[in-house]
Amino acid sequence: MKKKKTKKQGKNWKKFWKLGVDEFNTQYFGVSKDGELTVAEGHNSYNIADLATKYGTPLQVVFPFIIEDRLEDLIGYFNAYIKILGYKGKFFYHYPMKVNQNREFILPLISEGANLEVTSANELWLVKKLWEGEKFSGKIRVLCNGPKTDQYLDLIEELRSKGMNIVPIIEGSEEIERISKFKGDIGIRVDLDIKADTHWDKKFDRFGLSEKDVLLLNKMKNLKVMHYHLGSQIKTQKSILEGIKHAFTIYEKLQKIHHNLDTLDIGGGFGIPYEKKNFYTAKNVSNKIIKILKNLSNKAGIKHPNLAVEWGQYVVAPAEITIYKVISEKPILKANANSWYVVDGSFINDLKDTWAIHQKWHAIPANNMDVNLKRVWLAGSTCDSDDKYTAGGNYILLPKLSENKNQFIAVLDTGAYQDALASHHCLLSAPTKIVAQDGMIKIVRKKETAESIGKLFGWTNGEHK
Ligand SMILES: *Cc1c(COP(=O)(O)O)cnc(C)c1O
Repeated sequence: MKKKKTKKQGKNWKKFWKLGVDEFNTQYFGVSKDGELTVAEGHNSYNIADLATKYGTPLQVVFPFIIEDRLEDLIGYFNAYIKILGYKGKFFYHYPMKVNQNREFILPLISEGANLEVTSANELWLVKKLWEGEKFSGKIRVLCNGPKTDQYLDLIEELRSKGMNIVPIIEGSEEIERISKFKGDIGIRVDLDIKADTHWDKKFDRFGLSEKDVLLLNKMKNLKVMHYHLGSQIKTQKSILEGIKHAFTIYEKLQKIHHNLDTLDIGGGFGIPYEKKNFYTAKNVSNKIIKILKNLSNKAGIKHPNLAVEWGQYVVAPAEITIYKVISEKPILKANANSWYVVDGSFINDLKDTWAIHQKWHAIPANNMDVNLKRVWLAGSTCDSDDKYTAGGNYILLPKLSENKNQFIAVLDTGAYQDALASHHCLLSAPTKIVAQDGMIKIVRKKETAESIGKLFGWTNGEHK
């Protein structure tokens, strides 16, 4: 069958698919002359359809250079505005490990100067292993959030005694007694009495001490950090900035009680423009944050606080893409889309936010980008009706299928949260995972076999008795 070219031969496909645009984080992506998705790392180029053919689908492709670029830029913005505006505090980036704990994410972050933030004893155990393997310098600081089990606290104390710069953050009132006696810097998390513009639409949350309780704490000489976190994927710049202004009112009061308090940690929440509309940018927001903190602390007559930022999703989401192959097409009657494209992976398993919080993704073809298009919905391979991606009931534009050609679909910005949330509904295999770096490909997770998945469910050593 002859490939049908669209009539608009002159069309700029790169633009059409919203590729090559900094504000969408797609500046690395392009389209080859054969209509295939490409990713450029300096002068190296990766053809995604070729990778999908060679390594099989579903496939996750990780680009460490994107992580490095983004973190370098982010640290650069803050340090530049600190200098330009004459701000006296220092900037610290802490990578929240829960966003993606994979080794191929953590190592490039550390090499670019990230400090860490962990939420559990098990994440901290990984940090311990890195530390023992001398994978990072003694200067790195590790903030410990989340509820502190005895196991977690024991590990924190062990690492502190071995010389790690580790800071437990008091998360609830039952932690105050033990952590305040900690022989090192500590922090406190405040549950700010404001509502940010995020998916979590309730007025209450449960993390940290209330504003009232935090101000009643006895003087603590080792209290260095006031921390808060408003939630992920904050929709507006205003919400981020209002959070900082509000937090500062507490910081100022706390500082008068605990004289060594010198760091405001504004947590995570900086969003990704998944929906490719006007979105705020890190360059602008970092400028505004430093301005606000400078003005407020000058007015209050206190030292400019050091600033810690834990923007996780922002830094890592664009560094991974997930590729599926279309394995069948089924008609849909009377809906916004005309066909289901069934893919050889699962949204419910591999891109769980599709299901959990109705995440919208930037889904594009990885090949045949220049042929006629069709309105479709995507279906996963589990037997679950909810295993689908419909762009919120709207439709996804994808190429019409041709009998003798595979159709690959790339979902962009999948590097945050999806891996640790992933599951094995219908015992489907997780995607194969490869890392593309310096023009070379490394397999970091082979396609799961029936046997390896069976083991997770107690079917060991082939003894299926
Ligand atoms: C989840 C979390 C983050 C990261 O949030 P992002 O939305 O990924 O930036 C940072 N800090 C804390 C305390 C968190 O719980």
